[in-house]
Formats: sequence, C-alpha cells, structure tokens
Amino acid sequence: MGPNGKQMTTEKSMYKGGCLCGAVRFTISGGIRNIVYCHCSLCRKAQGSAFATNGIVELEHFRFETGEAALTGYESSPGQTRYFCKHCGSPIISKNSSVPDHVRVRVGTIESDIVERPMAHIFVSSKACWEDICGDLAQYEEYEPGR
Ligand SMILES: [Zn+2]
Ligand SMILES: [Zn+2]
Repeated sequence: MGPNGKQMTTEKSMYKGGCLCGAVRFTISGGIRNIVYCHCSLCRKAQGSAFATNGIVELEHFRFETGEAALTGYESSPGQTRYFCKHCGSPIISKNSSVPDHVRVRVGTIESDIVERPMAHIFVSSKACWEDICGDLAQYEEYEPGR
C-alpha cells in the first residue's frame, strides 16, 4: 500500500510475447485497448484464418526486447504496414502512419495472461462464408464506433 492508503500502481503489469520461432520478443506495459476480432479480407489473408485478434497499445508502452531486425513489413493498404517475423511468418504488429502514437498488436502472439478482453467483432460484412460468429459480443459491419 502507498503512503496515502492507495494501492501502489507504480508496478504496472508487463505482458510478454513473441513470434513462433522466438527471434522476435516484445513487452507491453500499460495495457491494451479496443481488442477486436477483425474479419476483413486483409486480416483473413494475413492470418490465414477466419479473423485477426488485434488490440491497440500506445507506442511508448510497446518495446521490442530482441529481434526487431527480424521483422519485415508489408504495406497492405496506403499508410498501413503489417510487420511479421521474416523467419517464421508470425504477424506481430501493424502501424498506421495516420496514427503514429500507437501500434496494433496481434493479441495471439502475447504469452502472458492478459486482463483485457475483446470488445467486438468488426468487418463482419467481409467474413468468410464458412464462418459462424458465436457469442454475445457486438458485431459491426465495419470499424467499431469511435474509430
Ligand atoms: Zn519468428
Ligand atoms: Zn482487418
């Protein structure tokens, strides 16, 4: 407890993650917001799956511990670059030049137990015909409100 009886919050939870081969390792401090399941056609191809699970992390809270040089990027739409490990192909983050203050992390590469939870399915208008979306989370035709 802190001097004024409040819980000390100086020790923020630190999340760790990395790529499949282990070359790329990163840490996240300060939390993840707006975790969404994105069913758009670009995310489906980038993940090889029905959707990507992405969350926003402030740039100052995202740090590569090792292997930043093992990343390579692909600009999948103007200003939007997806970064992945050039050895194993794991998608790690994307950056958008219009919002340089944060990165979008591929949540499946995080190894720590996180306290945040997904808030919505987005771009459900682009979902694969074979996918049935289950659960009670909100579904949006395109981006979630406020983005
Ligand atoms: Zn790798
Ligand atoms: Zn997407």
